[in-house]
Amino acid sequence: MTTIRTTCQGCGDVELSTADIALELTGTGDAGSYYFSCPYCASIQTRPATRRVVSILLATGVSYEISAASSTITEAEIAGFTNMLNEDDWFSRIAPSA
Ligand SMILES: [Zn+2]
Repeated sequence: MTTIRTTCQGCGDVELSTADIALELTGTGDAGSYYFSCPYCASIQTRPATRRVVSILLATGVSYEISAASSTITEAEIAGFTNMLNEDDWFSRIAPSA
């Protein structure tokens, strides 16, 4: 299972599984926010998700929903995006060249 490392405002670094995180996409669907329940203090934490974070979370299998304001994204666009993530070089395409 993929482990995702993030931070709780109260506890510092925490490790979560993909099932612990929910991603909400807004606007054009390439950014949004994600939220999780801290495994230590049980508080709900919300974090902004940049385009890069969204890509990583989707690639690890985090479930997502699209907020009502972003009805412009289509199922086909999502399918195309997730197909792209399934290719081996998706990260090099998204990440800035070192
Ligand atoms: Zn916490």
